[in-house]
Amino acid sequence: MATDIKNTTLPKIPIGGWVAAQLEACVRCGICAGACPFYAVLGTPQVSPVWKLELLQRLYRQRHSLVGRIAAALGLEKRLTAADLAAWQEYNFAACSTCNRCSMACPMGIAVGQLLHQVRDILAEQGAAPENLLKMKASVQAEKNVFGYPAYERAGWVEYMDAAPPDLYMRSQAEIVYFVGCVTSFAPRTQRIAEAFVQLLEAAGVNFTLLGEGEACCGFPLRSAGMLAEAQALIQANAAAVQAAGARTVVFTCPACRLMWLEEYARLLPGVRLLHASELLEELIAEGRIQLQPVAHSFTYHDPCDLARTGGVYDPPRRVLQAIPELRLVEVSERRENGLCCGGGGDVEMVAPHNVRAVAQQTVGKLKATGAERLATACPQCLRVLEQAGGGWPALDIVEIVARSAGVVDE
Ligand code: SF4
Ligand code: SF4
Repeated sequence: MATDIKNTTLPKIPIGGWVAAQLEACVRCGICAGACPFYAVLGTPQVSPVWKLELLQRLYRQRHSLVGRIAAALGLEKRLTAADLAAWQEYNFAACSTCNRCSMACPMGIAVGQLLHQVRDILAEQGAAPENLLKMKASVQAEKNVFGYPAYERAGWVEYMDAAPPDLYMRSQAEIVYFVGCVTSFAPRTQRIAEAFVQLLEAAGVNFTLLGEGEACCGFPLRSAGMLAEAQALIQANAAAVQAAGARTVVFTCPACRLMWLEEYARLLPGVRLLHASELLEELIAEGRIQLQPVAHSFTYHDPCDLARTGGVYDPPRRVLQAIPELRLVEVSERRENGLCCGGGGDVEMVAPHNVRAVAQQTVGKLKATGAERLATACPQCLRVLEQAGGGWPALDIVEIVARSAGVVDE
C-alpha cells in the first residue's frame, strides 16, 4: 500500500538539466508503446512507456513550468495522492521489465528506460514499493540473496557435483573470479549453467575461484526496486572479496550481475575486467583451450535485454555458437538492439508473475516461428522464464551448449 502523501509537499527528487531536456523532448507520439512487450500483451494505455513516465512528467511540470509554479504559489497545485502512487506502482513494477526497448523506439532519442528507473526511485522513496520487493530487500539484507535461503548454502550446488575437485573450486587466490549470482546459485534449473561453466573453466586450465559464502547478491534487484542505497554494503563486500582473491577478471553467467558490476562496481576495481561468460568462452575457443565437437541441431538465439540492448554484448554469444561444428544458427527477425524481452527482468516476476508468463509466451511464439529445433540464450533468468513458457521446446544457455560440444557434460 502506498504512503498517503496528500498533505505533504511534492517529493524532493532531483530533476537536473538532462532529465528536464529528456522530458521536454517527448512529443507524446506513443511510438514507444509499440515496442513495449507488456503493452503488447496487456493492451491498456496505462502500461505504455509514456504513461509510466507520466509521474515524472507531472512532478517536473509542477516544479518547473510557469503554470506549475504559479499554482504552487497560490496553493492550488494538484498534489499526488496515495491512489496516484498505487497506480504508478502497478504500471511500473508489475508491467515493466526494464527491457529498454522503448528507448530504442523513441524517435526523439529519449532514454525512456533510464527515466523509468527514476520513477522507481521516486516510488520507493515515497514508500510505494510493492510489498514483495520489501520482502526481497529483507531477504537480501538477512541472507545476501533474493530468495531468503541461508547464505551458507550459496555454493551448495557444487557439493552435488560428481566432478567437483576436493577444494570445491574455492581458492584463496585466482586470476579470475566466477561471480555466480543469486538465480544461478539457487534456482535448480540454472544451477546446471554454473555446473557446466566451472567444468569448462577447469577443462580449459583457467585459474579461477568461486567466492562461495563470500559472494553476496550483486544488488541489481535492489537497484531495480529503487533501493540502490540499500545495495551499497553488498557492493563494498563483493568488491573487497574480488580484491582479496587478487583477481584481474570477474566473469558472469548472469547479464544482470555483469551490468550491475559495470555500472556500480567498476570505479572500485580499476583495471579489473568484467566479462560475460560468452566473452571469456570466445577467448578460450580462439586460444584453442576448448575443443568443440559437432552439435547437429539448429538453434535460434534470444538476446537477453541486460546483455545485449543495455549491456552492449551482441556478437560474442553468436560467434561462440557459430564456432561449434554443424550447429546451425537461425536468427529471429527481432534481434540485437530490437531483441525480444523474456518478460522476467526488472523484478517483475516477484510482483506479477502472470504478466511475465504472458510476455514469455508471446516471445517464445516468435522464437519458435523461426523453425529452429532449439532455443539458445545467455541468461539464467531468460532461460528459466522462456523454458517454462516453451511447452517442452528444448532451451539451453550457451554455456551448456559449449559444455556439451566440448564433452565436459552429457547431452
Ligand atoms: S516515443 Fe518518445 S517522444 Fe514518443 S511518446 Fe514515447 S517517449 Fe515520448
Ligand atoms: S522498459 Fe520495456 S517493459 Fe518497460 S516500458 Fe520500456 S519497453 Fe515497456
